[in-house]
Amino acid sequence: MEHLDDYTAACPKCDRNRYLIDCDRDFTRATICEECFDECPACDGQEYQYVRDERGYEIAQQCPVCGALNRRIRAFNEAAIPRRHRDATLENFKTSAPGDGGKKGEPIGNLNRVRFRLYNWVKGFTPGERGFLLHGHVGTGKTHLLAGTIRHLALEKGISAQFVEFTHLLSELRQQFDQGRGETSILAPIIDIPVLAIDELGKGRNTNWQLSIIDEIISKRYNRSLTTLFTTNYPLDEASSPSGDSTSGDFHHSASTQTLEQRVGARVYSRLFDMADFVEIEAPDYRRR
Ligand SMILES: [Zn+2]
Ligand SMILES: [Zn+2]
Repeated sequence: MEHLDDYTAACPKCDRNRYLIDCDRDFTRATICEECFDECPACDGQEYQYVRDERGYEIAQQCPVCGALNRRIRAFNEAAIPRRHRDATLENFKTSAPGDGGKKGEPIGNLNRVRFRLYNWVKGFTPGERGFLLHGHVGTGKTHLLAGTIRHLALEKGISAQFVEFTHLLSELRQQFDQGRGETSILAPIIDIPVLAIDELGKGRNTNWQLSIIDEIISKRYNRSLTTLFTTNYPLDEASSPSGDSTSGDFHHSASTQTLEQRVGARVYSRLFDMADFVEIEAPDYRRR
């Protein structure tokens, strides 16, 4: 069967990806590279091909060459990766300090190990896989890793995924509720998407309404065995909470002293353990490196 890789003419514009990354007002977008893929060479831009079925009838089927590419681009555009993470990939995540003469410097914390772990996870990913929760101090690159993971799943594997910022999600839901839209129609896409990535879990005003929404999203996704990924700046236990800790001066702490469990409630917190591997990121704040 023909494959996109069979058409590997050099293209300086897209570096043989056949797509280009750009953004609109809020989100990162991918488009076909018209320089090298203006018209699919396998189907002359028809998006389908004629093949004979086992009874000898000629039937139209989706072109395997541009079909897969279009599916990946669509998945990426639906993933809603925020504009400021447009260039975030797992590959370009920096795990060591800049060294002399352009050479690699000292490794930073456990970043290399974490990146390697996530890279293996996306490579072997099949829908329904157990997710992960990245926790650690502010400024350790958790959001970059999360955005890079979603990018890989959507753009390389064509898997439907969505990236949401926790507080943004809640305010959007609030707005839609206030406009009188029904609860199921609002939450359904978030509950049904095969892979959901929630950035900055626990952030926000933490009202009862917000807690009930997160409870519903997490419980329903758990019951359906759907993959959910998280980042949080909140510590898991009081011991690692930043209050009164003066010994680790090179770590920049979030202002809050609450734990993640206090932020999301005991019920959701215990669900998180059922759904995700907890991965701690240990590194100094990159803005202070
Ligand atoms: Zn190109
Ligand atoms: Zn085609």
